[in-house]
Amino acid sequence: MTKENKDLLASVSDISTESEFFSPLPAGYKKGKTRYVFVMGTVMSGLGKGIFSSCLAKLLQDKGLKVAPIKLEGYLNVDSGTLNPFRHGEVFVLDDGMECDMDLGTYERMLDQNLTRSNFATSGQIFSSVLNKERHGDYLGRDVQMIPHVTGEVKLKLRQLAMESKADVVFVEIGGTVGDLENAYFIEATRELAYEEGPNSSCFVALTYILEPKTLGEQKSKAAQLGIKQLMQCGIQPDIIACRAGSPVNEKARQKISVYSNVPFERVISLADSDSIYMIPAMLRENGLDFQVLRLLKIEDRINLQKERKEWGKWCDFTEKMDSLNREVTIGITGKYTTVRDSYASIINALEHAGIALGCKEKIKWIDTTDITDANVAENLCDVDGIIVPGGFGTRGAEGKIACIKYARENNLPYLGLCFGFQMAVIEFARNVCGIKDANSTEIKPGWPKPVIDILPEQKEIEGLGGNMRLGGHDIELKKKTMAWKLFGKKDSVRMRFRHRYEVDPRYIEQLEKAGLVFSGKAPNQPIMQILELPEHPFFLGTQAHPCLTSRPLRPQPMFVGLVSAALQRHYPKEKLPDCIQAVEKYAMV
Ligand code: GLN
Repeated sequence: MTKENKDLLASVSDISTESEFFSPLPAGYKKGKTRYVFVMGTVMSGLGKGIFSSCLAKLLQDKGLKVAPIKLEGYLNVDSGTLNPFRHGEVFVLDDGMECDMDLGTYERMLDQNLTRSNFATSGQIFSSVLNKERHGDYLGRDVQMIPHVTGEVKLKLRQLAMESKADVVFVEIGGTVGDLENAYFIEATRELAYEEGPNSSCFVALTYILEPKTLGEQKSKAAQLGIKQLMQCGIQPDIIACRAGSPVNEKARQKISVYSNVPFERVISLADSDSIYMIPAMLRENGLDFQVLRLLKIEDRINLQKERKEWGKWCDFTEKMDSLNREVTIGITGKYTTVRDSYASIINALEHAGIALGCKEKIKWIDTTDITDANVAENLCDVDGIIVPGGFGTRGAEGKIACIKYARENNLPYLGLCFGFQMAVIEFARNVCGIKDANSTEIKPGWPKPVIDILPEQKEIEGLGGNMRLGGHDIELKKKTMAWKLFGKKDSVRMRFRHRYEVDPRYIEQLEKAGLVFSGKAPNQPIMQILELPEHPFFLGTQAHPCLTSRPLRPQPMFVGLVSAALQRHYPKEKLPDCIQAVEKYAMV
């Protein structure tokens, strides 16, 4: 038995081979101290449980409460690293290197809080942990069962988060829908946990969907009723029901749901589609949901209303600004997954944050680069004010991306290269400025003799596709007096998140720099190039990192602010942009 597990079990009085109780507690855990809000969905997935949960958590956080979110995912993958973003949305990378669901990005943005691997659990993790413990003999001769051992592992994970985060309220979002086989044991674990923690320790929120068939022209609540019934069959009585719908849910539908679910009418709320997720906190507040939750959890006495006034004021300034954007720029984004916005969620968010800071809307033009060449690139880019080449893997469209970068470099078009886009900018510069005509990346041409981009030495050792990238937050040393240095508020170093296997081959650095490419950000103590720029260009910046992952509504990421500002300056005459430069300085890293 591992020492950690011995300590853990030593602290648990309920475990013995004779007893049916199995509910491991972290050392020092006090039942009933931390409160839990469980958010689950019925009728269908895609209701925005993560958005709902993060907005509700924000309202409590504004009131001075400490909140910690966690997402429970039913799939058996241990992390999201091997998932195709086309099917699942972008892989969101946390500072500690965890590759997780894009919902974690929503929580980080809404709460302006860095999360860790403790805030994300998949069935793959839960089962691996149970099986490891079984092999270590940690179950003391018991037959290991879904209940109580697997559910015990889920409860342990939630309670560990409560202990680590010292949160007043842990928000638990269960992926998928009530009734999915793969999520059933998560739901069972929450039922057990709520019972064990005692009265007023937990609050169950069911998100549901109200149908409005065009042919009938009226709202129908039957599917919602059946979904809630299914939850009640699991032994869970919801405390709050949030009815998602295309338009505001009428009283009749809400009354019906209330009758069928034992949930008081005022706690059956309407949550119609909204243009922006940033408007949802206000919708929840208007419905009084924040105070409903505080009352249910009996923690009204823990709040700080003065803090809430201040925080809410800041938030309203932001949403008001969002409503008065009177300029527009077009940003081209090249990418393989051009039809799926979810695969570029963080980039779209980061652009939006930067735009709001600069009083500007961005129109995004998706550019499929598979057929782009030097001959037709101008016609594809003539209507954009700036361009992003985002992260990517593999060979498809790579030459087209290089053609776009060449065009941006030669035509003073603002350019931001992210990870793969950074690497492609190095190849373009090596080929067309340094004269290394056949420069390439070994990702695109394995074994190529002139790889200006090559696999990182430490990644060569690792086999297989899971967990073999340089991941998570790393510090970047900034070179003084460069554009990057100015954008980041003249700081010596900045931290960004990474997810890559390849890097600039150190043998070419000197040659590239001699020809005019400036590496303005480097890894401390390692020859890994992390930011590049061209001093003569109005805005030509690339980074091996993914700066979009750390952009927050009230703290837009400086590289994106720089890009949008440069795009504005290309689009509008200077006299129309009196505030632009100051804004870039104001938002220089926070
Ligand atoms: N495919 C490149 C690498 O592995 C870039 C990765 C990315 O854009 N996230 O280094």
